[in-house]
Amino acid sequence: MKTVIIGSGPAGYTAAIYASRSGLEPVLYEGNQPGGQLTQTTEIDNFPGYPEGTTGNELMDDLRAQAERLGTDIRMGTITAVDFSMDGSRPHVLTIDDGTTIEADTVIISTGASAKYLGLEDEKKYQGMGVSACATCDGFFYRKKTVAVVGGGDTACEEAQYLAGLCKKVYMIVRRDVLRASEAMQKKVKETENIEILWNTQVRGLYGTDGVEGAHLSTGEDLPIDGLFLAIGHHPNSDVFRPALECDAEGYIIVHHPTTETNIPGVFACGDVADPIYRQAISAAGSGCHAAMDARKYLSEK
Ligand SMILES: Cc1cc2nc3c(=O)[nH]c(=O)nc-3n(C[C@H](O)[C@H](O)[C@H](O)COP(=O)(O)OP(=O)(O)OC[C@H]3O[C@@H](n4cnc5c(N)ncnc54)[C@H](O)[C@@H]3O)c2cc1C
Repeated sequence: MKTVIIGSGPAGYTAAIYASRSGLEPVLYEGNQPGGQLTQTTEIDNFPGYPEGTTGNELMDDLRAQAERLGTDIRMGTITAVDFSMDGSRPHVLTIDDGTTIEADTVIISTGASAKYLGLEDEKKYQGMGVSACATCDGFFYRKKTVAVVGGGDTACEEAQYLAGLCKKVYMIVRRDVLRASEAMQKKVKETENIEILWNTQVRGLYGTDGVEGAHLSTGEDLPIDGLFLAIGHHPNSDVFRPALECDAEGYIIVHHPTTETNIPGVFACGDVADPIYRQAISAAGSGCHAAMDARKYLSEK
């Protein structure tokens, strides 16, 4: 095969659209979450091209249909092991979860990243109904409302700052009596009038009839809020590709910016799995386009 794309989120499908149109005859493996992270959510308001907004499932169905129309061979299956050719002298070998193996001249990795949750049953119950792991994605729906951000690192501080610009009040729920964020971030948060930090506090559960109305705290108090934002980190889905692929300390695949090239010739990475910063559908889609173009260039020069 010329090109195998791993993952069916916005990055994978966009790579598939571009790869199909440039004659790479891509085969795409969907993994165990067909459509990717957006299938976990309802309203999508910030993906260009949908003037009235859309839903996660609709958007992903559209991307899939477009990739299929252009000729992408979309297959069920998860990649469980890889044997990359470190110098590009032979095809890369991928093992699928049904035990079969395939060979590919180029591989595009678009396996995404999963937000970390606290592990509470209520997080699942209220997912998309007041629980979110992305302020940029969902903050808009909480304008002039009261929300809480869980976490004490740089991301939590950034999310709290972002939400403070939209919401009436933002609580930061911090497990310890210090923030792990940089001094500059801490200062900003502490100086923002509508952010209040609740130290030595954890969320034990959530309550509400048709959505989140409040959180049960470890202090024994109930905190009335309209939304809970988790900001305790992400886990990039790169485990299966390590140690062959260079990754950063958190597991994000390192690419040679501005390209999507990894340390292995013919292996490209795009979307959230290689993006510790933006993690948005449109940026994932954009980098999927780059990966397909990089793969085409690699094959044409081989
Ligand atoms: C609840 C929620 C709401 C969000 N809302 C928005 C929003 O409103 N706007 C926005 O822009 N962004 C939003 N995001 C972020 C957005 O979903 C991500 O930035 C985007 O989906 C990343 O795309 P991706 O293609 O990199 O990966 P993903 O969408 O994570 O897709 C990864 C794909 O890889 C597959 N996969 C993983 N491992 C393997 C493997 N070993 N073999 C084969 N396949 C594999 C999975 O099955 C999946 O199909 C939201 C995220 C969440 C969780």
